[in-house]
Formats: sequence, C-alpha cells, structure tokens
Amino acid sequence: MQVYLDYASTTPLIPEVRDAMIEVMNEVHGNPSSIHSFGRKAKTLVEEARKQIAESLNCSLSELFFTAGATESNNMILRSAVTDLNVTRIISSKIEHHCILHTLEDIQKSNPQLEIIYLKVNQAGQISAEALKELLSTSDKKTLVSIMHANNEIGTMIDMDAIAELCSLHGALFHSDIAQSFGKYHFDVQKTAVHFLSASAHKLYGPKGTGFVYIQSDNQITPLLFGGSQERNMRAGTENVAGICGFAKATTVAYNQLEERHNKTESLRNYFESEVLKRIPGAVINGTRTEGYLYNVASISFPQHEHGELMVFNLDISGIAISSGSACSSGVEKDSHVLQAIGHDPKRKTIRFSFSHLNTKEEIDYTLEKLESICK
Ligand code: PLP
Repeated sequence: MQVYLDYASTTPLIPEVRDAMIEVMNEVHGNPSSIHSFGRKAKTLVEEARKQIAESLNCSLSELFFTAGATESNNMILRSAVTDLNVTRIISSKIEHHCILHTLEDIQKSNPQLEIIYLKVNQAGQISAEALKELLSTSDKKTLVSIMHANNEIGTMIDMDAIAELCSLHGALFHSDIAQSFGKYHFDVQKTAVHFLSASAHKLYGPKGTGFVYIQSDNQITPLLFGGSQERNMRAGTENVAGICGFAKATTVAYNQLEERHNKTESLRNYFESEVLKRIPGAVINGTRTEGYLYNVASISFPQHEHGELMVFNLDISGIAISSGSACSSGVEKDSHVLQAIGHDPKRKTIRFSFSHLNTKEEIDYTLEKLESICK
C-alpha cells in the first residue's frame, strides 16, 4: 500500500485543476503581453484567474500579483519593506519558514542598522500577543510585523485578526505568510487589516511554481524582478498562464469544498492522533489543541528511540510518505529550528504527518499498524 501523508509539503493536482491546465496548454499558447488575438486570449485568462483569487481574499484586482510562489512573495515583501517603505524594524518569529528567516539574515547583511526581533514561542508553539504589544508600544520605529498564519511543521496558528488589530493600533505594517492556510480558511482583507499576504498554489492541489502576493494598495513598492511590464510592472517575466489558471481553479474548488474538506481531514487527523496516543506509550503531540491549530497537521514526538531516523526510513519502506522533524547536518541529526524553538527534546524523534480529504480510513489504519510495529 502507498500512503501519502505529506500534504503540508505539497499536494497532487486534483482532476479539475489538471483538466483546466491541460485545456489552457492545448488551446492557448499566446503571450499575454502580445496585442494580437492569441495574446489577448491568454491575457483574458490571467485576468479571469486574478478575479477568482481576488474574490477569495476580498481584495481589489490591482492588489494581487502572481509570482512563482510564497518564497518569492515573501522575499519581495521583506526586501521592499526596508528599501521602499522606510521600515527600520522587523518583528518576526523563530518558527517562520526558512524563506523568511534566511531572507531576513540576508537583508540584515546589507542593512546593519535594521533591527530584527524574533518573537519566541512557548512550548505549544504560540507567540505571545502580549510580547508583541509590548514591543509595538515601546518604539517609534517604522515596523513591519511578519508572522505566518499557520506553521508548516507543528501546525500552530496565530489569531490573525488580533495581530492585525495590534499592528493597526500601533501603526505597524503586517505581513502574513499564508502558504499553509490559504484554501483551508476564509480570508477577508476588508475585515482583517493585513497589508501583505503570500501563498503558493501547490499547497492547495494546484501546480508547483505559482503563487501570489497581496499588496494592500496604500503600499507602493518596487519589484524584486525587473524586465518587462507584466503584472502592472510589479513582477517582470512572461506569465505562467497554465499555472495561474490552475491556481485559480484550485482556489475556487478549495473554497467551494471548504467545510467538507475541513471536516473530513480533521476527523481523520483526530482519529490518527488518538490512536497513536493509545497504541504508542510515551508518544506526545506537539503544538496545541486549545488555541489555533491547522486541521491537517499532526506533529508527533516519539519516545526516545535509538535510531530515530530509521523510523522515517521504515515508514518509507512500508510505502508511507511523511516528513521528518529533523535535518541531517554533517552526519548528525539535528532538530529543525521550529522544534528547537518549542524546546523539543532532541533525543525524541518527531514526525510530521499531514493529511488530506483524499486520505482514507484504511490508509490511516495501515499507517497506525506499521507505526506500532516500528515503535515496538
Ligand atoms: N511558507 C510556508 C509556511 C511553507 O510551508 C512553504 C512551503 O513549504 C513556503 C513558504 C514556500 O513555498 P514555495 O516553496 O512554494 O515557495
């Protein structure tokens, strides 16, 4: 049996998306920048896609730009906040994705005066809104707060409305990486005072290499990539027309099936977690279930295990695809920066299982059975 439990890493294309993309690839080859009919047809598709995604965020069409994914969008926002928006302080968190953390490290090199503060998280993986409030109220520096909506490793989520309100109150800009939550939760930028959002299509059954950045219209920034005048001069390079159409289709389907996907996935995840706790003594669930938590992720820490990495290998041999919470550095296994931030015991092995409405109970039972025998 083959069981894919790595949906937080990436998702397969759903048939609706695949069909939409194939149709575009077969029938529309024009360059959206060309003024002839072939180009106009491609341009119409891109604009139609923009409309569909903008509707899901309740933003205007002029605030949404297609990119190659959340990595590019995050780079764009962080860099331009400093160069174009006079930001002299960035507040982020220790559990952001590397495309935030490594970008910040790089920005710091060429901007040594820039103050970068990383909010700590508690053992449950939550940032403290109080700590953020304290920071925001004790400095006049122009500040960008960049905090992810949902964490990709341990699934913890912030209260986006509360953070947005705090930022508004103190005149700070607010950026959130919604790569893990877009297509799973409702967003309304008219209700949530967020200035920037980043997402990738491949996390919601769309194609890889396509994403968006939302830039609230009061914030004029310069592009990351220069060249042609695509995306109203904000992102040069010929548009990935099929990818963009696939992204729009994935978004529409995701929002049409929002509740259905949520309920099915969450119940599979909850069943899996409760069975793991019953069958594997000493197993611990990371993150929290009392505050915000992504419904498709289970980050589980297993009792001290001599050959932790063998667990991942043995699951793979059994046909089960999961993600390890550690990385091998110079031959030594090290906890990821997220696990380190929650004070995880590195002697324990943590595995991220991430689920989908496409999973079945049989797959979960098979995984539990294999996991139980590996842990014996
Ligand atoms: N941000 C988060 C929270 C993610 O989970 C990911 C992907 O794993 C990214 C950003 C980067 O997305 P991409 O690789 O599509 O640019």
